Amino acid sequence: MLSFTDARQLIITQTKTHLGSCPTISLPVNDALGYVLAQEVRTDREYPPFHRSTRDGYAVRASEAVPNATLHCEGEIKAGDTVTQPLNPSSCIQIMTGAAVPPGADAVVMIEFTRRDGDKVTFNRPISPGQNFVRQGSEARSGELALAPGLRLGYAELAVAAQVGAASLYCNKKPRVAVLSTGDEVVPITESPGPFHIRNSNSISLSAQIRLAGGEPVLLGNALDRVDDLSTKIERGLQEDALVLSGGVSMGKYDLVESVLKGLGAEFLFDSVAIRPGKPAVFGRCRNTWVFGLPGNPVSTMVTFQLFVIPSLDILSGAAPRPLPFLDATLAEPIKEKSGLTHFLPARLEWPEGAPLVRALRWQGSGDIAALTQANCFLVVPADRQDITAGEKVSVLPRSDVL
Ligand code: AMP
Ligand code: MG
Repeated sequence: MLSFTDARQLIITQTKTHLGSCPTISLPVNDALGYVLAQEVRTDREYPPFHRSTRDGYAVRASEAVPNATLHCEGEIKAGDTVTQPLNPSSCIQIMTGAAVPPGADAVVMIEFTRRDGDKVTFNRPISPGQNFVRQGSEARSGELALAPGLRLGYAELAVAAQVGAASLYCNKKPRVAVLSTGDEVVPITESPGPFHIRNSNSISLSAQIRLAGGEPVLLGNALDRVDDLSTKIERGLQEDALVLSGGVSMGKYDLVESVLKGLGAEFLFDSVAIRPGKPAVFGRCRNTWVFGLPGNPVSTMVTFQLFVIPSLDILSGAAPRPLPFLDATLAEPIKEKSGLTHFLPARLEWPEGAPLVRALRWQGSGDIAALTQANCFLVVPADRQDITAGEKVSVLPRSDVL
């Protein structure tokens, strides 16, 4: 059986190998959050476009503004003022943060280190040339690459696009991901469940996870544990870039997802992974669509999505796959797990004295979503560890949407 790292690696290599060209869309910069950039964005001018003061104070020649020297104040420059006049010798000019340093001045003295009497300013600290302003062009030259294709657009990237006047951006369209839950016991959330039925919460959590990962969910509802219903609904799902199924991948008599997929021509790259929860997870390709068969227990569905579907969606979006952001933490209370599989236990990571401390939460197994709402991470118990004592260092995987 594959380890989760090998399973992930297989998904990454396979998705990259079969990657076609991504359709693009032009979006106003304010609507492009979370998309992957499909174009270069270059600077339209130098940054900063002028010598920009970083302090409120006085623009001076450093050689003149020595301690106890007094200079004549010529006036003031506010942010946004047009500045062309050079600073006269033996003079200074009051300047605000964000304003342009005038020609001739080579430093800005903070107002805190001056004394003012009418139009006379006395300085009480030495200053060196270049202090307290950012030189024109020091952040970027004109025409320089500011954002490269393949970059996922977060708030900082959007701010750069806005800064250089890229008001709309060509982005890769988000991969469309069909979501199909399976199970005779599953009913739509708008219906009242019979005494032995459960509501379809997996389609909702999967839809949320797909959105957060940068995909566009296409909800196909639920298929009964019957070959005909599964075939029809899976075929519909195969029209999208990826299909994520929940349930029906274990060893039970009515777990038919794999055999139906096989009948439709799927090739499987793995059909189990050495993890708990999530062991029966399936990954394959069917008619140009990536197929993820995730176990139906809600926490298994969530964990396997984070481990296996996110890197694939990254690649289908035209971005590099995000690594799993493991953290080290100290274990607060001992844990005992059966070995043989890597466990991902719902856990709470806190920083009571500044250092990370993690505690596994009490839970009733992989159906217990209520426990997961208390969890901000999964505690990773390696396959070869039976007991871990309090105080030991452990590895923690932050929940992708809360930490
Ligand atoms: P399965 O993987 O099909 O054996 O399903 C395992 C368990 O997951 C079932 O017994 C259900 O309790 C639960 N389950 C399956 N599908 C869903 C769903 N769509 N929403 C919530 N829970 C589900
Ligand atoms: Mg089932």
